[in-house]
Amino acid sequence: MGAVAVRVQGLWKRFGGQVAVAGIDLELPAGQFIGLVGPNGAGKTTTLSMVTGLLRPDHGTVEVVGHDVWHDPAEVKARIGVLPEGLRLFDRLSGRELLAYTGRLRGLPGAEVDKRATQLLDVLDLAGAQHKLVVDYSTGMRKKIGLAAALLHNPEVLFLDEPFEGVDPVSAQTIRGVLERYTASGATVVFSSHVMELVESLCDWVAVMAAGRIRAQGPLAEVRGTAPSLQQAFLELVGAGDRASGTDLDWLGGGAR
Ligand code: ATP
Repeated sequence: MGAVAVRVQGLWKRFGGQVAVAGIDLELPAGQFIGLVGPNGAGKTTTLSMVTGLLRPDHGTVEVVGHDVWHDPAEVKARIGVLPEGLRLFDRLSGRELLAYTGRLRGLPGAEVDKRATQLLDVLDLAGAQHKLVVDYSTGMRKKIGLAAALLHNPEVLFLDEPFEGVDPVSAQTIRGVLERYTASGATVVFSSHVMELVESLCDWVAVMAAGRIRAQGPLAEVRGTAPSLQQAFLELVGAGDRASGTDLDWLGGGAR
């Protein structure tokens, strides 16, 4: 195996009596498009928050491109980009101002920030809205400006929590194009999702998570195994069964109102 972008060992997080992440190990290869998939409440957001230095684990270690996230946070933060779930942006700035601010915070020279911001706004189809306040952006536009801010310093690893949630197909295609170009240059993308078709069509490598544990990880074809689709493999791995066909919703439909 080649270089490892993210190495997680024995990672735990508990919220009161609720174990959100139950001692997981992960080894995510560099230069790949990686999907972290799992049902609602599996622990994906909690895992990504710990891996990106936003939430302190109870136990365990995380290394990103060879640096320990909790001992060497500045080294790690300089090398990663993050698009968190329910992203809070400084939304009284315009899209262009937000990028200018982010770029300066990242220590980039002003002229370079301007150049990169212009290109990102253009590629992400936000040029027309660059002077509008981010508070007035739609959900999809917020995701795109968040992605632009996360990419501005050209990170080695990009972490995205549900990047396609609430995004229309045209914007999704745009985001996808940008991410594919970015991984083709050797960078790593790690994103969480519960949309299997998306993960199947985008990812080279997947980790399946359920109830705070990793159920499988590896190249997409390996995790899918002999199942006809990743969706099917996923349902078998998380042991979802066929809940909806049970008899306990016998009042639903059928005219008994
Ligand atoms: P989804 O796909 O629905 O976003 P997820 O896989 O990202 O789910 P997490 O958000 O990581 O799941 O949640 C894992 C578990 O931890 C859930 O049971 C959730 O209720 C719990 N949890 C997460 N954050 C907190 C918190 N701050 N306080 C208490 N419980 C939490």
